[in-house]
Amino acid sequence: MGVLKRTVLQLNASYEPMSVISARRALTLITKGVALVQVATGIQVYPGIYLPSVIRLRNYRSYPRRMQQVTRKNIFLRDGFRCMYCGARSPKVMLELEHIVPRCRGGKNVWENLVAGCHECNQKKRDRTPEEAGMTLIHRPLPQTIHTSSHILKQMGAEVKEWQTYLWQDSDGDRRYQYVN
Ligand SMILES: [Zn+2]
Repeated sequence: MGVLKRTVLQLNASYEPMSVISARRALTLITKGVALVQVATGIQVYPGIYLPSVIRLRNYRSYPRRMQQVTRKNIFLRDGFRCMYCGARSPKVMLELEHIVPRCRGGKNVWENLVAGCHECNQKKRDRTPEEAGMTLIHRPLPQTIHTSSHILKQMGAEVKEWQTYLWQDSDGDRRYQYVN
């Protein structure tokens, strides 16, 4: 069923947003009694069972590892799908994963050394540091923290209206992460 591929926002028992999961996974958690439906959609999956849009865990869990992984997608989400050198946004430009300190110079695959960069800026920078290339980063890339995860979730859920109350309830979000639009 196509609807089972839809995404569901998973909240911790504390109402803190945790991750975005598939509807199939959400229904499993509900069936097992691990989670409760917080917000349901009008879509009926089985007689009397509505597809959830937001679920909440019955018991508190520590933070999911998945959100902490250094992946291309997580880096792009953190950087708001913008080139961190010129500010151009995807899909206007093709974004690539950019090592601030190049790999050949010992730069590591870590949150602090990776940013989204457009093809043009990457070509210009080549195997140099930003200083050597005379380029400036728009934002210092932040390491993974609970705030980064929160920021990533906000980016993932930006289009889903009924998630906003839950995604934006922690108003003490990382202020270093305010993007200029
Ligand atoms: Zn660029």
